Amino acid sequence: METIVIVGGGAGGLELATRLGEALGRNGRARIVLVDRYPTHFWKPLLHTVASGKLDPQVHQVEYAAQAADHGFEFICGEVQRVERASRTLHLGPWRSDDGAELLPGRSLQYDKLVLACGSVTNFFNIPGAAENSLTLDNVYDAEVFRKRFLACCMQASVTRGGVHIVIVGGGATGVELAAELHHTVRTLAHYKLHTLDPARDVRISIIERSGRLLPQLHPYVSRRAERYLRRMGIEVCTDTAVARVDAGVVCDSAGGRHASDVTVWAAGVEAPPVCATLGVPLNRINQIIVTPELRTESDAHVYAIGDCASQVCPSNGAAAPPRAQVAHQQAQFLAEQLASPARAALPAFRYRDYGSLVSLGPFAAVGVLSGGMRKREMLVGGAAARLLYGLMYRRHIMSLQGFLRMAAQTLAHWIRSKVTPPVKLH
Ligand SMILES: Cc1cc2nc3c(=O)[nH]c(=O)nc-3n(C[C@H](O)[C@H](O)[C@H](O)COP(=O)(O)OP(=O)(O)OC[C@H]3O[C@@H](n4cnc5c(N)ncnc54)[C@H](O)[C@@H]3O)c2cc1C
Repeated sequence: METIVIVGGGAGGLELATRLGEALGRNGRARIVLVDRYPTHFWKPLLHTVASGKLDPQVHQVEYAAQAADHGFEFICGEVQRVERASRTLHLGPWRSDDGAELLPGRSLQYDKLVLACGSVTNFFNIPGAAENSLTLDNVYDAEVFRKRFLACCMQASVTRGGVHIVIVGGGATGVELAAELHHTVRTLAHYKLHTLDPARDVRISIIERSGRLLPQLHPYVSRRAERYLRRMGIEVCTDTAVARVDAGVVCDSAGGRHASDVTVWAAGVEAPPVCATLGVPLNRINQIIVTPELRTESDAHVYAIGDCASQVCPSNGAAAPPRAQVAHQQAQFLAEQLASPARAALPAFRYRDYGSLVSLGPFAAVGVLSGGMRKREMLVGGAAARLLYGLMYRRHIMSLQGFLRMAAQTLAHWIRSKVTPPVKLH
């Protein structure tokens, strides 16, 4: 029986494993194996809400082992360190306990077909001191580290009667969404008397963005509206500002400006994880695996890549699919169909359909562009209605993994929970 191994159970990989498990694994037509370095899945676009304490990741995670048992695939917990294409073998690192003790030695796993869906990691662009002196939002653990550091800074500043300055490097969706959430969190923490700071006077949140506007990948209307909204909240927006180095406690820009910082968050770009470079297939400048329109690697017909770790250029317009959950979802859908019907003579090309982008501006507003329809018209949206649509994106993701009924039951459970627990995590 053919073994299809998927590395990475994120927005793309978990949906692919679920679909292939249902189509091939359940009826014994193929062995479907998902490998992830963590035991649970958390939808990455919500990481800023974990960092701000608004969302408890324990409540919103999907257990891989349970998903595997329900949908006909196997799950192996471990970090893939190396891929040996000649022998079609994956090498997994040792499995360690939280204190670093080795629980299981390194293992290997054979595949007939391999799908890399291992996402992306923060790109520090070789800026001196950035990796050493900044926090990132690559996964739930990073987001929790930030949340605890932010809470500790607020509590310490209450005692020393100082202030707190958060500097976010990168004015893309991650930076904007995090800044807006923090504005609300600091006020909620004050309400629970976890600090005695005056949120407007003592807590400064700054975004430093190299290009001329926030959200440079999106429509200028979205940038203008997001900037106006953030400035009204008292968030400092520094555009046309390139970070030259990051030291402990200060971010220096290339024009000589110094931005004091208690916590620096680096949200300025992504690159593919190091495991992609072990394949020995063509990569682009940010280590993404270059794939054909069928999502296969150029030099090995048994290896595929989807999501943030893949670089797929549309043959008709030459545009590269952006690193977004929407792309990972569409590629997972496409590849599941192709791998489930291997008898097809020729694979069609994957074509990314951009349905627009929404950026959350805290619990009550969002802004963005919706596109689609026959004429591919763009519709600019904002305010509470856009925030409602933004919330639906996550529900749609859960529905694609667990079906409508479980998604609806979870939505109700989350709503009830939100009525009986504090609006942010307090410890
Ligand atoms: C704060 C934030 C906000 C975002 N907001 C949006 C948004 O609003 N809309 C949008 O479309 N996109 C958004 N994105 C981008 C979106 O999250 C990604 O594009 C999407 O998650 C990519 O999916 P993926 O399947 O490629 O990878 P991921 O979802 O990142 O999953 C990768 C998986 O691979 C696993 N993995 C990695 N390396 C290994 C290894 N060596 N061995 C085993 N497992 C491994 C990881 O543990 C992870 O589970 C946001 C991202 C962030 C960080």
